[in-house]
Amino acid sequence: MTFEAVIFDADETIFNNQGIHEIVTKRVLASLGLSEDLVDQVHSKWDEFYFSEQSRIVEEVGFCIDRENAGRSLVLALKEFGKDISIEEADNYWEYMRQEYSKRSKPYLDAISLINYLEKKGIRMAIVSNGDIEIIHKRLNNAGIEHHFEFVIAPCNEFPITKPDMKIFHESLSKLKITAEKTVFVGDNPRSDVMGANRVGMFSVLIDRYGVNSELEGLQVPNLKISSFEEMKSIFEK
Ligand SMILES: [Mg+2]
Repeated sequence: MTFEAVIFDADETIFNNQGIHEIVTKRVLASLGLSEDLVDQVHSKWDEFYFSEQSRIVEEVGFCIDRENAGRSLVLALKEFGKDISIEEADNYWEYMRQEYSKRSKPYLDAISLINYLEKKGIRMAIVSNGDIEIIHKRLNNAGIEHHFEFVIAPCNEFPITKPDMKIFHESLSKLKITAEKTVFVGDNPRSDVMGANRVGMFSVLIDRYGVNSELEGLQVPNLKISSFEEMKSIFEK
């Protein structure tokens, strides 16, 4: 099979977000007079509420509202540790979080290397992310790699749906004017990235840098699982 395009997920596929949420959580704890020792527990509760709220909100209002969700899930997480904060206070932390991600989240070196490699091979590239489109553009721009991508689709901002909904994958194919068989989709999330790509018949690649996805079943099984982008180059060698 000759592939002509690669669609990337953004967070933890191109961009390294390791440790950033912890930094933000520490700042939240310090400003509320809570112990820094709680950072892991609060962080994981915040994440837990965030992801369960996200599916609930999408079902309820048919739209992914990241800002409200992040605030609301922080309020719920802190409640578990006996701290009540208002939505307005939570919203300030969200703004801080966006700034920290814009500043600290940088592309993985092997992602840059793959992007340059694909560019030389004449492979077209795009991004489909469930994240914040403004922060994605900011980070691409800061890293000087924005021009490699034909477009960024971020359903949270543009569509009333999120990955793994097939509509987003079809939309990206129609923007590229290409068929699924000629397209590779790479992401770090077995559900939103791999399942979505598999459903529409793209060649799916799971990047599992930290070895966290050992049990994959059904539609979540990727065509290729890698731990570094170096391993992806072989599928473009003729
Ligand atoms: Mg991701």
